[in-house]
Amino acid sequence: LAGSQSLLKISRAVHNAAFSYTLPDKNPDPELLAVSPKALDDIDLDPEEIRTDEFLQVFSGNKILENTRPWSLCYGGHQFGIYAGQLGDGRAISLFETENHRGERWEIQLKGAGRTPYARNGDGYAVMRSSIREFLMSEHMHALGVPTTRALSLVGTSREIFRDDALPDEKQPERGAIVTRMSPSWIRFGNFEIFYSRDDMFNLRKLADYSIENVVKEEEDYKPSELEGNKYMCFVRRVAKNTAKMVAEWQAIGFNHGVMNTDNMSILGLTIDYGPYEMMDFYTPANVCNHSDTAGQYAFKRQPTVCIFDLFKFAVPLFELIGAGDEVDSLVYIPKDSKDSSNATNQATRNEYREVGKIEVTKLLSEEFSNWFMEHLLWRMRQKLGLKSNKEKASDMNDVVIPLLDWMSEYDIDHHRFFRSLSSYQVTEAGEEKDAETHSIEVVPREATKGEESKKALKPWLAIYRHRLLAEDGHLDNPDRQRRMNSVNPRFVLRNWIAQEIIEAFENKEEAEAKQILESALQACIHPFREHYNDEVVEHWIKEPVPEWGRDLKCSCSS
Ligand code: AMP
Ligand code: MG
Ligand code: MG
Repeated sequence: LAGSQSLLKISRAVHNAAFSYTLPDKNPDPELLAVSPKALDDIDLDPEEIRTDEFLQVFSGNKILENTRPWSLCYGGHQFGIYAGQLGDGRAISLFETENHRGERWEIQLKGAGRTPYARNGDGYAVMRSSIREFLMSEHMHALGVPTTRALSLVGTSREIFRDDALPDEKQPERGAIVTRMSPSWIRFGNFEIFYSRDDMFNLRKLADYSIENVVKEEEDYKPSELEGNKYMCFVRRVAKNTAKMVAEWQAIGFNHGVMNTDNMSILGLTIDYGPYEMMDFYTPANVCNHSDTAGQYAFKRQPTVCIFDLFKFAVPLFELIGAGDEVDSLVYIPKDSKDSSNATNQATRNEYREVGKIEVTKLLSEEFSNWFMEHLLWRMRQKLGLKSNKEKASDMNDVVIPLLDWMSEYDIDHHRFFRSLSSYQVTEAGEEKDAETHSIEVVPREATKGEESKKALKPWLAIYRHRLLAEDGHLDNPDRQRRMNSVNPRFVLRNWIAQEIIEAFENKEEAEAKQILESALQACIHPFREHYNDEVVEHWIKEPVPEWGRDLKCSCSS
């Protein structure tokens, strides 16, 4: 399913193909700025390797390993609700796949190493600021337990890049960078949409079969006995479940993605494409982190609903395969360029199947999706609150979690500080309810003037919390609960202002110093739960209140 090689790097529509062979550009003066030790370990690379020139040349795109043939994927997608036609990896080039000793497969990909046939108007490069953000947050989310694509390395180049933020006569060049990313697969919802938009069911079925066989493998729990459906239905169900879990994690940690277009949605339910994202400082349901999203389509509170929309757009191309049920093998599609279409399944039959498939998918998305989402969210929130027993499962969401989130959103509370410090809560059998301060719970609302009021408003919830902890199975074990809570509520969080400080270090400081700051950030990102960091910079990031200049920093898609 390969398109022709694109040595000329001409941007074009690529028909009848799932990918094109592509080569990165030669990138000038590459410099290795950071490497994730966790990512290295996941692909079984010896840490010594990173000192070699070969490592630098390969992960800057300047050297292609023997017997490998890099490629870029073709995909379409709904952007802000509207089908946008062919998009594809415009500046992402996959170098090779590798398998580690656990049998996990990793596809290693450069981002920002040059144009591909899918580059459209883009230059194929990426600037330092967005590359730093993607590199750090990929590894941070992984450490926080959120399903995500990964980042192996960050390489700086001397290439000068111009982005369109400034007025033409004020344009300043920015420094180029290349992030090496890794994922078990980069297949997105949009990979299915592109074939459907071209009425190419022949290739669409191949892609679905490939994905089922190699990427999203069937598991028993996706085929509960009361649910009917063929393997394509199971496939959609699995993708929906992956997505529900991913977005539940986002909601629990306060992550606003910003560009939930279907070309940024992975069939494995991994967070892809770290652009204008924001780890919210204050819990604000209406938060919109993408400067270009003026309508608030991808606001924090809308993320679960957007997933349903995106999943529907993903499933549309598969409707007839799903609706055919056990008859699916009798569906005959022929390649678009074939002269003889006499034995192809007729359109009327296909339309009938489509209607059946549509009903099945609608049911899945309107019923099962929200169950999975709520189940996973509750599971994660109970962990954050240190609740162990499942006895009061159903009512925990309504009785404990929702009142807390209501309070947080009313006062725009710094939820990271709150959850981390909540572990200090000491519950005793007897005794009166103490206030937040006595427990050293940090209550920091967005508006400093609301400090007292927000603390007072928390008191009723603390009584609920105390009551709930007393209802826990087994004896009261404060230290044990504290330990559990501190292993899921991060002490360090990569806030936008912190990322901005790191970016500015690369703009304004000596390179050696900037690299040191980046290394501090990386260590904190991959070990976010530590009680203490032997690093003043990290302790400063943790203790410092969000500075005035760093509040509501919004990024655009320009990167
Ligand atoms: P995004 O909004 O980041 O998901 O990007 C949408 C599409 O634009 C994807 O297909 C990207 O590969 C492509 N794209 C974004 N920036 C560039 C660039 N500088 N050069 C080439 N393609 C790009
Ligand atoms: Mg993208
Ligand atoms: Mg992007």
